Amino acid sequence: MPAKLLKGAEVAKEIREELKCEVDFLKNKHGVVPGLVTLLVGQNPASQSYVRAKQKTGHELGFFSVQDDQPENLGEEELLKLIDKYNKDPKIHGILVQLPLPKGINENRVLLAIDPAKDVDAFHPVNVGKLMIGEPDYLPCTPAGIQELLVRSGAEICGAEVTVVGRSNIVGKPIAMMLMQKAKGANATVTVCHTRTRDVKLHTSRADILVVAAGVTEYVKGDMIKPGAVVIDVGVNEVGKTADGKRILKGDVAFEEAVEVAGAITPVPGGVGPMTITMLMKNTVRACKVWNRIKD
Ligand code: NAP
Repeated sequence: MPAKLLKGAEVAKEIREELKCEVDFLKNKHGVVPGLVTLLVGQNPASQSYVRAKQKTGHELGFFSVQDDQPENLGEEELLKLIDKYNKDPKIHGILVQLPLPKGINENRVLLAIDPAKDVDAFHPVNVGKLMIGEPDYLPCTPAGIQELLVRSGAEICGAEVTVVGRSNIVGKPIAMMLMQKAKGANATVTVCHTRTRDVKLHTSRADILVVAAGVTEYVKGDMIKPGAVVIDVGVNEVGKTADGKRILKGDVAFEEAVEVAGAITPVPGGVGPMTITMLMKNTVRACKVWNRIKD
């Protein structure tokens, strides 16, 4: 029997409806509106489309949403000044700097300049450290989306063997860290694979939950998956364009093979992607509450 599809798009819609109620409550009861600024430097087409999607979702939820487009030649000091301005702006609770930044701008210095309380991407070392010790204020968006999708789809995470393929700072490392925590929706035994792993298949094929974030089109084949496993495909790889110019996307998992072996699997697109943006919105609502000292 083919695997159950874990449709992130549907789960994300459900969470956005919950968030909309929370935003209405914050407005009506406390007179505050969550504010999100997305800072885009340059005109990278993929970044433009990501930023547009974030802004659109923010507007739909009733946020005070600001898109700040800056030219490619914006200097690092000017960008730091802008961040300082938004750090002090009481209407802005979340600051998102769209990565990658143009060459010549030191990304680490920029991310460090964001007030950790407004760091809704959770990339600031303070937030990374808090996640590591199991006391996060904000969870990084893609890993948070993966965990939420697993929990809401009823996957058994506690005690599960989890294999993560990929060790990036934005996906692989944080999702491994989150799923190994002594916490609800976690308590898994986690293995992390990367390009120096001797036998990736050995680890993927014994995973009850397999998270793939390698950035390699259809890297994980059907015979690398344990029958009945839950497979989370984080990969987004453009493999061409349709006649009307739309991007054709494939994941890091060979879907047609995997769907015959796995118990459940995320599609690409419509799996992890929509969850990521929704978690950004969730972090912004949280940041608004923290700024205004409103308890959960
Ligand atoms: P990344 O920074 O390029 O990291 C890729 C990781 O995969 C690295 O740790 C690399 O190992 C490992 N890797 C690459 N090839 C491998 C192989 N053959 N065997 C084992 N490990 C291998 O990528 P990322 O930013 O984590 O993103 C991964 C994918 O997720 C991309 O397709 C990206 O577009 C997608 N993504 C999607 C979302 C979403 O919202 N859906 C969000 C973020 C990323 P080394 O460390 O040894 O190099």
